Amino acid sequence: MNQAMEVTSTLDRSVRSITSLWKFRTWHGLILVVGAIVVGGWFAWHRSSPVPMWRSFDGARAFEDLRNVAKFGPRPPSSAALEETRQYISMRLADDGIEVWHDNFTADTPVGNIAMTNIIGIVPGERPSVVVVAGHYDTARLEGIRFVGANDGGSSTALLLELARVLAGRKNRLTYWVVFFDGEEALQQWSETDSLYGSRHMAEQLAADGRLKNLRALILVDMVGDRRLDILRESNSTAWLSALVFTSARELGYQSSFSGGTYPVEDDHTAFLKREVPAVDIIDLTPFHSYHHTEADTVDKCSAHSLQLVGRVVLATLDKLERSSQ
Ligand SMILES: [Zn+2]
Repeated sequence: MNQAMEVTSTLDRSVRSITSLWKFRTWHGLILVVGAIVVGGWFAWHRSSPVPMWRSFDGARAFEDLRNVAKFGPRPPSSAALEETRQYISMRLADDGIEVWHDNFTADTPVGNIAMTNIIGIVPGERPSVVVVAGHYDTARLEGIRFVGANDGGSSTALLLELARVLAGRKNRLTYWVVFFDGEEALQQWSETDSLYGSRHMAEQLAADGRLKNLRALILVDMVGDRRLDILRESNSTAWLSALVFTSARELGYQSSFSGGTYPVEDDHTAFLKREVPAVDIIDLTPFHSYHHTEADTVDKCSAHSLQLVGRVVLATLDKLERSSQ
């Protein structure tokens, strides 16, 4: 071997080693670039797909409202305690930057004309199509009983306040009306004409002024705070909307709290169903066997956990409605 060949051979070796280093660097760089795209894409995907809305519902915060509302005492229509509750609800909504409307009307009842007020919190969305989430904030007028309705009247109020907070804190595709009905309870004896005053008035009003056609759905909550929650499948409710609710409950792993059988219930969704607005009543009737409409409907019968389960199922249902409106 001569020196020239040796130089070439050394050169070859060094070229080879540079080439393999370059290849290594190229592959390494490529791996880094691909890695960066994958990781970056994952983060970007996570950023662009919002945290599921239902996670934001805080049962403890809702329970605080339930406790505060029950402290006002019995809250039948036109009572000072209901006026205090109305102010509380309105201020809470306003604190969250929500526009508040008071729908005042006079109800013709078996005990005379009574002034009533539905409260409507408006959370605007990208589309004018409206989803109503509703409940009642009055309590039954029961003679000789200090009925504070922690569950019956209190739980719906508390759940709606927390729901409004969550909705107000995000960008919504649909417009939401969070509605607190007055006069759900009978003033004397439950009948078609002595009950559901607030919802009957509102449905009639919206039908008359042409706004009813904007309502895409109504989701009603009633008696949703019981510690041993057992939501039933209300059989008058619109089938597809009810299916969305129960599917959401199953997906969230809450099916054991949504297995209260199938029964028909007349409630604040009835006036909307009659006018062909898709509506569902999320209700637990187990308190009927124990403390329903007695002075034992107190805060200790309710739990933050139950409010959270139902609140999250409602939000997961709204999420489904939003997705299907794309
Ligand atoms: Zn009741």
